[in-house]
Amino acid sequence: DLSIRLQKAAEYVPQGARLADIGSDHAYLPVALMLQNKISYGIAGEVVAGPFKSAQKQVAKNGLEEKIDVRLADGLEAVELADEISAITICGMGGVLIRDILQRGKEKNRLSGKERLILQPNVGEPQLRHWLVAEGYKIIEETIVAENHKIYEVLAAEKASTTPEYTEKELFFGPILLQEHSPIFIEKWQHKLAKSEKILASLHQSDQDVADKIQAVSQEIEWIK
Ligand code: SAM
Repeated sequence: DLSIRLQKAAEYVPQGARLADIGSDHAYLPVALMLQNKISYGIAGEVVAGPFKSAQKQVAKNGLEEKIDVRLADGLEAVELADEISAITICGMGGVLIRDILQRGKEKNRLSGKERLILQPNVGEPQLRHWLVAEGYKIIEETIVAENHKIYEVLAAEKASTTPEYTEKELFFGPILLQEHSPIFIEKWQHKLAKSEKILASLHQSDQDVADKIQAVSQEIEWIK
């Protein structure tokens, strides 16, 4: 069975999608979706040899070699426009790494702009949302889940002809999560508040010029409160 965070990502994949799962590791996500007949074709992309082999094994074990291609490649170089991919999942990495994979993919012409992006950053969610919005994506789904004492955010985005004007605060917290104000969301930000207050206290002790950092952390604390 999929973990809760991958289950959420799976829910955001449209029925019948041609899916590319980048950083697939064991290829659990594309294999589960294919076994449920939720996707019609899959690519499992991996840049590291060990996980690439795990993905190949998992696909073979389930007899899905004809339906899921396992490719050893850096980021979106696993995908070509001819694959007609309609959904991309990138899960279990930092938001900045996910953003960089998307940016390089865009530069290398691997994105048609018609794909739904389903992303599960472990940290660095604001930076990722900033990139999406700057590139004309609209955040259409967002959720926050707890698993093994960790909290994860999962989001889905699509290019839209008219994108909403997101505020800095919405990009920081997540526009949908901010609206929902779920118990897990509150737990996450109570924890972050305590951390940010400690950071602010240590910045005030510093003999270096940290005025910009103090300003940024103070802003965060004000928002969280
Ligand atoms: N997506 C799976 C999940 O959420 O359970 C696996 C997450 S695992 C922590 C991250 C995986 O991404 C690793 O297997 C790593 O090798 C792979 N990875 C990191 N950078 C990558 C890149 N630029 N291109 C492809 N895969 C990458």
